[in-house]
Amino acid sequence: MSKIEKTKCLIIGSGPAGYTAAIYTSRANLSPVLYEGIQPGGQLTTTSDIENFPGYPEGINGTAMMNDFRKQAVRFSADIRPGIATACDLSQKPYKVTIDGEKIIETDALIICTGATAKYLGLPDETKYNGLGVSACAVCDGFFYRKKVVAVVGGGDSACEEALYLAGLASKVFLIVRKNYLRASQIMQDRVLNHPKIEVLFNTNTLGLFGEGGVEGAHLVKFQGENNEEKFDIAIDGFFLAIGHKPNSEVFKHFLKLDEQGYIKTIPGTTKTNISGVFAAGDVADPNYQQAITAAGRGCMAAIEAERYLNNL
Ligand code: NDP
Repeated sequence: MSKIEKTKCLIIGSGPAGYTAAIYTSRANLSPVLYEGIQPGGQLTTTSDIENFPGYPEGINGTAMMNDFRKQAVRFSADIRPGIATACDLSQKPYKVTIDGEKIIETDALIICTGATAKYLGLPDETKYNGLGVSACAVCDGFFYRKKVVAVVGGGDSACEEALYLAGLASKVFLIVRKNYLRASQIMQDRVLNHPKIEVLFNTNTLGLFGEGGVEGAHLVKFQGENNEEKFDIAIDGFFLAIGHKPNSEVFKHFLKLDEQGYIKTIPGTTKTNISGVFAAGDVADPNYQQAITAAGRGCMAAIEAERYLNNL
């Protein structure tokens, strides 16, 4: 590994948190360098229209919105580059982050905005119908299923929350649960089980999806592998995954405190991690809200905190 570069402020990740941190730090003359990561623009580039981000009364395509964020950061001279953080050494200052396994960036302040990745079942049909009826975000996409029939996969609090949210819009919601019980908290279970629009399919797995040009139904199996195994189809317009998110914190886990799910822990009310000068914003540090607007807000906080930290050095 030969190349070493020094910067004052390094941002890793390019969702709403990363780009917002870049806008604020570049306007504060910190000359930030931002590496965009595996998916430039982050998770929003995989959703359809965004209708709940203030400032876009007609809604906006997720990719277009992220392009606007990026342009705004570039306008203030943020140095935005392709590249993935593959390793780090936060044991001493300046902090070191390895990019693409071949270049080391030394930085005085580090803002981690690497996001989280929704878990999928791994079915080829999930890819085939991505954006055509398959979604991992009910709050983002539920509005398109008003008075339609949808299915949610999962039995935890997220799945129950998504099913209840969708039940407020859709005409019917199937909740597909692989076990014979819900893992969710009792109150969420009660709400789901007593909701007239939600039908819980216990002991059920998804085999595939079908439809011409979009999801029209799902192939399901009950008691898979048992003597009483039963295959059947349901007609649905939307298929929502709610089987958990995986925060993209792997690279930093040896240095930063993570919670039991892998989210980076921050000092409450701040984006400060357990290491001074290292900040975390957006979904990688947020097990609760995971919205574009909250991520952008935290990106702003991280930038201001980084600026104050650097001024005090
Ligand atoms: P969880 O890990 O709690 O639940 C995931 C669910 O998805 C489980 O029912 C699991 O099934 C199911 N699942 C996982 N993989 C598959 C698969 N391959 N096929 C089918 N089903 C699958 O994740 P959540 O995102 O629901 O919650 C994460 C954490 O966040 C939890 O601690 C939760 O309590 C918390 N949370 C709290 C909320 C609140 O308080 N309002 C809202 C949302 C989340 P199985 O049970 O069989 O493993």
